[in-house]
Amino acid sequence: MGNMVYLKNVATLAIDTTKCSGCGFCLDVCPHNVFKMNGKNAKIVDRDACMECGACSRNCPAGAISVQSGVGCAAAVINSLLGRNGGECCCGPQKDDSGAPRSGGCCG
Ligand code: SF4
Ligand code: SF4
Repeated sequence: MGNMVYLKNVATLAIDTTKCSGCGFCLDVCPHNVFKMNGKNAKIVDRDACMECGACSRNCPAGAISVQSGVGCAAAVINSLLGRNGGECCCGPQKDDSGAPRSGGCCG
């Protein structure tokens, strides 16, 4: 993940703290530590690290998180276009073992 590139200010992630119950599920499921607790509510602390996988939104029992998931795993798509990595993405490798493009998932 060290050579991943993220665009600033493009993630669609948003949180409505008035709905948040403070359960902490979003902190548990986010693979990029985008959230932290702020008193009794979660807050976004690193929006630019969000890869829009949608796990937080799907697991929020209060419906407090919105994110446009499955729109392309922005970082993986951009890195792939730039030839910067092996194509790892939230939906798995973009190439199969033979190097052929993989179909399926949000990048397929
Ligand atoms: S999962 Fe939802 S309700 Fe729970 S802390 Fe996160 S935003 Fe708040
Ligand atoms: S969409 Fe995925 S990466 Fe972004 S904040 Fe939610 S769990 Fe984290």
